[in-house]
Amino acid sequence: MKVLKFGGTSVGSPERMKKLLGIIDANERQVVVLSAVSGTTNSLVEIGQAYLAGDKPKAAQLIKILKDKYEVFIKELFANPEFLAQGKEVIDYHFSLISNFSNDLFTNIEDKIILAQGELLSTTLYHVYLKEIGVPSVLLPALDFMKTDEDNEPVVDFITEHLTPLLEKHPDNKLFITQGYICRNSFGEIDNLRRGGSDYTASLIGAGIRSEEVQIWTDIDGMHNNDPRIVKGTKPIAQLSFDEAAELAYFGAKILHPQSVFPAQKYKIPVRLLNTMDPKAQGTLITNESDKDQIKSIAAKDGITAIKVQSTRMLLAHGFLRKLFEVFERYKTSIDMITTSEVAVSLTIDDLTYIDDITKELTAFGSVDIDKDQTIICVVGDFGAEKHGYAARVLEAVKHIPVRMISYGGSDHNMSLLVNTDSKTEVLRSLHSRLF
Ligand code: ASP
Ligand code: MG
Repeated sequence: MKVLKFGGTSVGSPERMKKLLGIIDANERQVVVLSAVSGTTNSLVEIGQAYLAGDKPKAAQLIKILKDKYEVFIKELFANPEFLAQGKEVIDYHFSLISNFSNDLFTNIEDKIILAQGELLSTTLYHVYLKEIGVPSVLLPALDFMKTDEDNEPVVDFITEHLTPLLEKHPDNKLFITQGYICRNSFGEIDNLRRGGSDYTASLIGAGIRSEEVQIWTDIDGMHNNDPRIVKGTKPIAQLSFDEAAELAYFGAKILHPQSVFPAQKYKIPVRLLNTMDPKAQGTLITNESDKDQIKSIAAKDGITAIKVQSTRMLLAHGFLRKLFEVFERYKTSIDMITTSEVAVSLTIDDLTYIDDITKELTAFGSVDIDKDQTIICVVGDFGAEKHGYAARVLEAVKHIPVRMISYGGSDHNMSLLVNTDSKTEVLRSLHSRLF
């Protein structure tokens, strides 16, 4: 059985939604995971924020704008008045739920209920649409099988245990529709897998039911070897290993949710990235295999801050790094890149929530320098320690640009550079023309 995930733009208009059946083979047994209609989750985030701020009139205004969009949406989606009436019932139900929260009782729990409505809407409307055109399908509630534990980690065994019987209940059905992104947490409350989490849902379901393949359908033909918005002539990468895909997904190739690589990797489920606008295009296949001896791709991640801590006490001291890292652990701030010398450490973070507290604590170790507006440029490929020449080629390509940090050897398939965000475009272009 395959798992197919369609993102927000793939269900972003009634026209696009109708076209999904050109891709989904209604005769093959499969699970179809849908995101919310594009823009919906962003609007739901704003609605939740208005409630949290105690501004119910603002929430009501935002809800009306969003609901109006759905009123138009269903009019185009359904041709038959009976099914249009059903579609209307669906949106009335979800929007009255969103409207009926009160300011005083609004917490994160209610906020997450609101965030869940986008995927509930898209899947239910699609299910009703399939009924209208006479294609049998089963709507599977993700909240019945998608679960996270105390550490907010999804539990694959729970999916296996709860989803398998749901699928077995319908031996004659081919098409199963379910929601991406949403889940229940360890308290049983409605929760989510964080923004972009529908990819993660697809990979988790793939792992849970030991699917033959997970397909992630978006609006670009696979992962490209550089950022197509910045560099001309980028190409889709035909094949990547899970490790390479994880590095790229994290470092800016926004096409895939970074965590979604891991369940598929653990259970050896191939993942294909495909393009709804060009379904015949080959896309990117991610498996355990890797094309050897190749630089595969370049990606960039903005919004990075570099922190340098300099201290002579570090010289020959043990336990220094542990103490330093503990500061970041206390503030739940993750570190992306790190380089060390005998008397200084530089590291990068992308979450500035606690930067002032962190800086204050770090000054106990020595002098602290902060550089904001940095970009990590990450070059991914197969270049382990036994290989030679790759680092030289990368550095040769950026020799005219100031580089703040270099990280190489952390894994066999990554070399990262930290540069000023102003230099990003030049670095990406220069690397592209020299490496490919
Ligand atoms: N709808 C959610 C979001 O916009 C999840 C997803 O689309 O993957 O983040
Ligand atoms: Mg996405």
